[in-house]
Amino acid sequence: MSQQAPQWNFQHLLVEEIKNNGGWVNAHAHIDRAFTITPESLDIYRKHSLEEKWDLVDVVKNASEEEYYRRISMALELMISQGVAAVGSFIDIDPVAEDRAAKAAVRAKEQYKDQISVVLINQVLKGVIEPEARKWFDRAMEYVDIVGGLPKRDERDHGKGSEHMDILLETAKKHGKMVHVHVDQFNTQNDKETELLAEKTIEHGMQGKVVAVHSISLAAHPKEYRERVYKKLQEAEIMMIGCPTAWIDAPRHEDLQPFHNALTPVDELVKYGITVAIGSDNIADYMLPFTDGDMWSELKLMAIGNRFMDLDELVKIATVNGRKVLGIE
Ligand SMILES: [Zn+2]
Repeated sequence: MSQQAPQWNFQHLLVEEIKNNGGWVNAHAHIDRAFTITPESLDIYRKHSLEEKWDLVDVVKNASEEEYYRRISMALELMISQGVAAVGSFIDIDPVAEDRAAKAAVRAKEQYKDQISVVLINQVLKGVIEPEARKWFDRAMEYVDIVGGLPKRDERDHGKGSEHMDILLETAKKHGKMVHVHVDQFNTQNDKETELLAEKTIEHGMQGKVVAVHSISLAAHPKEYRERVYKKLQEAEIMMIGCPTAWIDAPRHEDLQPFHNALTPVDELVKYGITVAIGSDNIADYMLPFTDGDMWSELKLMAIGNRFMDLDELVKIATVNGRKVLGIE
C-alpha cells in the first residue's frame, strides 16, 4: 500500500475554526422575504432593475403575519442547520408590509432564542421622506434592535439621499441604537454613498455605531479615491458587511473602470483595519432567486473573488466581526 500525502481541505479547516470561535454569524439578510421566488415570478428578476424591484416586491409584502412567520422560521432553521449562531436581518416595516413582518419576526426571535440570536433591523424600501413611509419608520423603532437604511430610494425619488442619512442617524442617536445602511450597490463611479456615510457619521458624532452594507461601487473607483474613502471609514469607525453572491450578478455595462470583481473590496478594507463581516443577503427571493443562504458558499466567494486567503481574517469575518457589527460582542 502506498503512503498517502496529507490533503488539505480549507473548507473543513475554516468551518472547524468558525465553530471554535462561536459559530457563523450571518450579518445581513432579508429573512422575511425568503423563499418567495417561483418559476413564474423569475421573469421579475430577469427583466427589472433593483430599483424597479423595490416596488415590484410589494406583492410578497402583502403577506399575512402567519405567512411572514413561516418564511422567517424556515430561514432561521436553514441558518441553525449550518451552525449559524447569530443572524442580523432586515425586516420590511413600511406602508405595504406595515408591522406584520415585524410582529412575526419578534415572535420568531423569541421562539428560536435558545438556538440562534436574532438581531432585527428595519428595511425602508419606501424611504423615510414620504410622510406615510416616515410614519412606519418611526413606528419600527419599537420592534428593531438596529436602525436600517436605503438612501438610494430617497435620492432617486426626491434627490434626498443625504437627508435620508440624517434621519437615520438622528433617530438612532435618539434611541441609542446602531445603524446599518445599504450603500454603493450599483458598481459604478457615480456612487459615492460610502464616503457620504462616513462624513455624516462624523457630523452626527456616531463613530463606531454605523455599519455600511455592500459598498460594491468603492471598487469601481480609482485607487486614489478608494484610499481616501478607507481613511474616512477609519476616522468614522465605520464597519462593513459584504454579501458576495448578492452583487456578483451586477449587470454588464460599458463604463470603463479599474478591473475588479463586483464584491466588497475586503482585501483592501482589512488592510486599512476596517472591521468586515459577511452576510447571505436575500435568500431565494425576487432580488436573488438562485441564492440559498449557504454561508460557506458566501465565504468561499468572498475569498476567491478578492484573492483574499488570510485564514485568520476569514474566520474573524465569519464570527467575531459579525457579532461586532450586530452589537452583540
Ligand atoms: Zn440588503
